[in-house]
Amino acid sequence: MRRKIVAGNWKMNLRFQEAEELLDELATRLEKEQRSGDVEVIVCPPFPYLEMAYDLGTDEEDPNMVYFAVGAQNVSEHEKGAYTGEVSAAMLSSMNIEYCIVGHSERRKYQGETDLMVARKVESLLQNGIVPIVCCGESLEERESGNHFKVIERQLTEGLFHLEPLDFSRIIIAYEPVWAIGTGKTATPEQAQEVHAFIRNLIQEKYGKETAKQIPLLYGGSCNPATAPELFAMPDIDGGLIGGASLKAGDFISIINSFE
Ligand code: PEP
Repeated sequence: MRRKIVAGNWKMNLRFQEAEELLDELATRLEKEQRSGDVEVIVCPPFPYLEMAYDLGTDEEDPNMVYFAVGAQNVSEHEKGAYTGEVSAAMLSSMNIEYCIVGHSERRKYQGETDLMVARKVESLLQNGIVPIVCCGESLEERESGNHFKVIERQLTEGLFHLEPLDFSRIIIAYEPVWAIGTGKTATPEQAQEVHAFIRNLIQEKYGKETAKQIPLLYGGSCNPATAPELFAMPDIDGGLIGGASLKAGDFISIINSFE
């Protein structure tokens, strides 16, 4: 059975106090629901809130009791040194951060993140024991011109497929069509499933059937409490990377509870 995962990408939202309130509400509600632990919940706030997120997401008396795990939204491709404003994988690891988003389309678009940078970031994260959540996805133009499979294959080949099998087996992949992110236009379950099956097939060709079967593939792009159940019911969709809807505790928890 593959892991089920719901990760919230807060992006550059919320002031400190608002972040504290949301984290607190999430922890309280997730604790109350006494979930069986079958869905891994990950919260990815901005860097300044990571420590608070870790503290509030983990039971003070019992560190094995985790209401949600914590992920960063970015990491430097460099190990350390004169890179003003950057945050390294070693720093994240020293703060118990377990996950990190890499290659989000907003970083590719606004910060010029390339497939090569994605590859370097992924390596640095893995060396520091952090699980990369690697995003891929096509723009509207690329989909309309029928190039979406080619784009996704390039992103995965150049960003990930250089990894040794053991390293690759620790990765999470998120398919996020750019035209669906923050637009309110969710991909249909069939559109998303088609791409997820394509990705799983690429993994199978490169790393074999067993690895392809166990890699979690998340869908991201305007996923909300209304659309999540049908998306998560698809055979190759193992959960979601959630942007806007992760900023409201009620919506985020409904999405977490959307698995059959
Ligand atoms: C995202 O940014 O990863 C995302 C999926 O955003 P939204 O859910 O807001 O479309």
